[in-house]
Amino acid sequence: MLQQTTVTTVIPYFHRFIADFPTVQALAQASLDDVLAAWSGLGYYARARNLHAAAQWIAGPGRGEFPRTASTWATLPGVGPSTAAAIVAFAFDVRAPILDANVRRVLSRYHGLTGRDAATLRRLWAYAEHHTPGTDVATYTQAIMDLGALVCRRTPDCHSCPLAGDCAHDGQTITQPKPARPERHAVFAIIEDAEGAALLVRRPPHGVWGGLWSLPECASLDELPATLRVLGVEGGAVAGLPPVRHLFTHFALSITPVRLRAVTIRTTVGETRDMMWYKRGVQHRPGMPAPVRRLLDQLTKTEAS
Ligand code: SF4
Repeated sequence: MLQQTTVTTVIPYFHRFIADFPTVQALAQASLDDVLAAWSGLGYYARARNLHAAAQWIAGPGRGEFPRTASTWATLPGVGPSTAAAIVAFAFDVRAPILDANVRRVLSRYHGLTGRDAATLRRLWAYAEHHTPGTDVATYTQAIMDLGALVCRRTPDCHSCPLAGDCAHDGQTITQPKPARPERHAVFAIIEDAEGAALLVRRPPHGVWGGLWSLPECASLDELPATLRVLGVEGGAVAGLPPVRHLFTHFALSITPVRLRAVTIRTTVGETRDMMWYKRGVQHRPGMPAPVRRLLDQLTKTEAS
């Protein structure tokens, strides 16, 4: 959960998730829809899909215990070499070097490496291997991760750093400006039947929001009529709603929501597993992307006031 997400945001999700899926077996037996619903709002849903798939592997026939080697962990979905090393270091105090983004930043600065090429990465892995102690690996691993997260940040606080004096970058002002996020645009259609239920479509299993229930969308208002035709939507007055912006790590999504009420639809929703009507405030809410949830909640709030 903490990949790409802050501790403050994660805490309530973590508690709810552990309450819903208290064991690896419970997680493995849960449906992906239930796991995505519990993850809903946390973003980066590939993490939830990978966690579910990894739990199914661990609880699978002939297994049932957590692996004890970094090399086995690294074969599980969503687990890279660094995460695998951190897991075995923390869980079993097994010696395995880590090189996540924070540790990479610390070691790059400490050893005065600035490149981002494959040769530099190989040298960093060699340094990571060199610095990892033979005993008390969990303490070292936690310490170097925390150093990167709390002290040697984008703008490093060298005055507070225990490595100051030995570090190649000590005392230099290093500020890496954040690159501006490119902007993408999308139109989200809130298509409602006569009872006010909204049409949701399941997104493809991979990519951003993979497997979640979302609103039908298209790239621009010009494309909206064609999108509605494909869905078999007829009638319904179109009304614009205030735009919404959603930030991803690598881009910002600018959403233009439109609402179509009391439509008729030729497609038989429900016959396909990838379309459903969702009645706000009545039905259990399926896993949906945060901006879609906010848009629908906003409609409920406006109607109640
Ligand atoms: S001295 Fe500064 S640059 Fe070097 S590791 Fe510490 S915080 Fe990072």
